[in-house]
Amino acid sequence: MPPSPSLIDLPDLRLDDACALLEHDARNGQPQANESPTDYLQRVINSLCELSLKDPLTGLGNRRHFHAALGRQIESVARSGESVLLLLLDIDHFKSINDTHGHLAGDQMLRAIGQCLERCVRPVDTVARFGGEEFAIILPNCRPLFGLSLAERIRQAVANLSVQVGPLLSIQATISIGGAYAPEWVRSTPELWIERADTQLYRAKSNGRNQACIDHPQELSVSAEEKGLLYSHLAADVTNPFESSPGNVTNRVNA
Ligand code: GH3
Ligand code: MG
Ligand code: MG
Repeated sequence: MPPSPSLIDLPDLRLDDACALLEHDARNGQPQANESPTDYLQRVINSLCELSLKDPLTGLGNRRHFHAALGRQIESVARSGESVLLLLLDIDHFKSINDTHGHLAGDQMLRAIGQCLERCVRPVDTVARFGGEEFAIILPNCRPLFGLSLAERIRQAVANLSVQVGPLLSIQATISIGGAYAPEWVRSTPELWIERADTQLYRAKSNGRNQACIDHPQELSVSAEEKGLLYSHLAADVTNPFESSPGNVTNRVNA
């Protein structure tokens, strides 16, 4: 089938959601009466941004949205030392929900849990679908004292949820949660932060599921890689007076 006529050469846009965007443009792309080309263009751009950041099943932020938000928080933590908590949440035995009640019931469960998570947190927090049956929540300004009780409150809210998947059938599910605070004053990386939360999620799963484990901030050790990320800009700027060979600057902090 030939592609639908479009005012913008959308295939040139390098976005993962290109097909959805094209379809969207074909449906909504024609300029409305009295709409200037600039307004039309702005409308298309707004739609592209929205589509590229949203998970179509749950309406939550998608993985791209999550990574952008995590990057912003890393900058903020490095500047202000603010306490920011990252939670990774994974539905327990979700495969058996699909196997027992069908994929559509599984989809309904994903949507219901997504909405439940949004109800549990503040507007300033970011709730995203991280992967298949995994979610992520970024909680800025979350004091370490409250991390575990907050995660516990979310876990209980999901456990109490009853999702109607048929005229006479409601089902329930539990989640396991792993959390980690960003190391304060250190410019960490998304990978290291996610890895810490993921380790806690693994702990929650292996301890029996339906529970939350948080990496307590006092126990955090700053890795050599994170120290390098913190001080590497100094290495580029500062000439080491004790160093004989130029280009071999060694004022990095060792582990
Ligand atoms: P665990 O408690 O160890 O997390 O077990 P699990 O069954 O939840 O984990 P597993 O990784 O074995 O299975 C995840 C399942 O999630 C398998 C996959 O088919 C299902 N899934 C992933 N994305 C979707 C989706 O969009 N809709 C539905 N209905 N199922 C999905
Ligand atoms: Mg999983
Ligand atoms: Mg799972």
